[in-house]
This record gives sequence, structure tokens and C-alpha cells, in this order.
Amino acid sequence: MAQYPARQTLNASGRAVVPGLVDPHTHAVYAGDRVAEFELKLQGANYLDILASGGGIASTARAVREASVAQLVAETRPRLDEMLRLGTTTAEIKTGYGLTTASELAMLAAIAELDQTHPLELVPTFLGAHAIPPEYKTDPDGYAQLVIKEMLPQAAEWYTNSHFAQQGIPFFNDVFCEQNAFTLAQARAVLEAGLAHGLRPKIHADEFNALGGVRLAIELGAISADHLDVTTAEEIALLGTAETIAVPLPAVNFHLGSHHFANARGLVEAGAAVALATDLNPGSAPCPSMPFVMALACRYQKLLPAEALNASTINAAHAIGLGHRLGSLEVGKQADVLILAAADYRHLVYQFGGNLVQTVIKRGQVVGK
Ligand SMILES: [Zn+2]
Repeated sequence: MAQYPARQTLNASGRAVVPGLVDPHTHAVYAGDRVAEFELKLQGANYLDILASGGGIASTARAVREASVAQLVAETRPRLDEMLRLGTTTAEIKTGYGLTTASELAMLAAIAELDQTHPLELVPTFLGAHAIPPEYKTDPDGYAQLVIKEMLPQAAEWYTNSHFAQQGIPFFNDVFCEQNAFTLAQARAVLEAGLAHGLRPKIHADEFNALGGVRLAIELGAISADHLDVTTAEEIALLGTAETIAVPLPAVNFHLGSHHFANARGLVEAGAAVALATDLNPGSAPCPSMPFVMALACRYQKLLPAEALNASTINAAHAIGLGHRLGSLEVGKQADVLILAAADYRHLVYQFGGNLVQTVIKRGQVVGK
């Protein structure tokens, strides 16, 4: 149109154009890797056994505690580059590998620096209650109290002074409710403490054991409940009527070599808003690719291509509180757009193992080709 002369035009004829993908659950900031643990798992070691013996999250926590903010940023940046190439234009990133007040704050500082220096738009989540650190092994309640009394107030203060607050980007408070992590009572205490600081809850619930995390999430008005691998039919029905968004993480099941996946089809049928996410992390899902997650969800969770795309765009945006601005191609929304190397968007989930994202546009600017 004459009143809006274009400085740059892109020819997308014969190409499918879709909204930029939103990854609403990642642990993308970390140091080191867990490739040796991966090999142990291939030989039969169990995830919860590794967690109980000080491996798993605790081993990444050791690496993160030793890393400077600059190192965390340097190790994470290539992961964000890869996510962007694969079509993710916005991602949530959690803390939870520091597990001390200082190193949780260092993770938040790394997320802020990455957001300001990388085209991928980030949303921070505090996950001090990710694992019981080794020094609190015999006193998990003591660690929950540290999260509540010391970490959460400082994280909330950090947020208030951050550019995220100034720009209206929300800040969430998450907890891993699971055996050998946080009990339902501890999860409630941590999430209620976050609410007292104005932080809306998220929860890791029902990954291995159904402890009641979904009910808690709904009761506390959590924006999302994530994993949901062993969620009961009753709780699936509850999610069908709740505002809380259901976020299955099929790359985790895949990486753990499991043939069991969250009942995403059942969640959709129940009326739940379903979002997909990578859960990008060094232990259970070293996966930067939303299209791969979508491909898994179609094959193993019986989502249709349109449902997988919806779950990775508008629903995913709502799962991080940004559905009003992101997640769909609409007048007035931010121009986060992908041009695919295919005429039909269904190729994005039909093909897998490569990258069909030809052009990435973030905030109206071409940021990746
Ligand atoms: Zn997670």
C-alpha cells in the first residue's frame, strides 16, 4: 500500500508462511553437558536413580555454580542461534541449575543479557525449586525454606529492576513436583510464596509420578502445567475446563527412550489448551527443535499438523503470558514470521530431521536465512 512503502520486500510465493514458533519451556542456560550420563542411561541406568545418586540436575548445578555469567552466556548463545535457525522466535528460559541464591541470580543475569543481545526474545522463569542440592540432601524442607525466604524475594527484586519488567515481559515461578525433588506440600509452599511476590506459578507435574500437581496448579491459577506424562483421566478432565495450559514435552519421552507419551490427544478432546515445548536441557532433552517436537507430537500423541502448529505458536505464547502480542499472524501483533521451504505448512511436521525453515523474521526484521 502506498501509505506504507516497503524498504525491503520478501518473495514468499509458493512458500508456506507461519507464525514464529514459541518454545514455552526450556532450561537453555546451563554449563557443560551430560553426554556421559546419556551413555550410562543407554546401558540401563534409570533417571530417578541418577538423580538420587547426585547425578542429573545436581551435576549440571556443579558446573553452573562454577561458571561466571559471561561463561553461561557464551555457552548458551549457540543454543539460541540453533533454536532461531529452527524457527523459534520466542522462548522461555528457567533458572534451576544454580540452587544457591547467588548462582540462581547469575542465571537470571545471563537470561537478561542474552535477551538484550540475541534476536530470540526471552521470558524468564525462576525455578529455584528444581532439585534438592546435595548440601540439603538430608534437609529438603530446609532447602524449600531457603527458596521461599531468601531466593524468591531476591529474584522478585531482580525482576522489578530488570528490563523485562520495564517491557511488560512476565516472570514466572516454577517448581519440579516429583519424587526425589519437591513434594506436593513443598511445591504448594514455594508457589504460594511466589504468588505473594506477584509471580504467577508454573509447575513440572506428573513426569514420573502423579503427586497431585495438576490440581495444585489449577487451584493456584498456574499459567501452565508441564510434562503430564502420568496425569490421571480425572485431572485431564479438570485441565479441560481450567485456564491452565497443558504443556506435554514429548522430546523428553523420546530422549529417555520411553514409548509412553503424555495424552495430548485426550487433553485436546477434553477441551484443554495444549502447548508444546522442547524442555531443552542437558539431561532429559538436549533438543533445540520445535519442529522435531511437533513431529513427535503428531506421531506419538496423535495431534494433527494444524493442532501441533497451534500448540507451538498461539497456545505456546499464551503459556508464557504473551498471547496478546505473539503467536499468530494478525494485524496489530508483532511480526514474528517464518517462511518455509515448502508450499504446504504440513511439511513442517511431515518431514523431520532436517530444517524446513527458510527465513526467520523477528519483529519485522529478517534475522535468519
Ligand atoms: Zn523442565
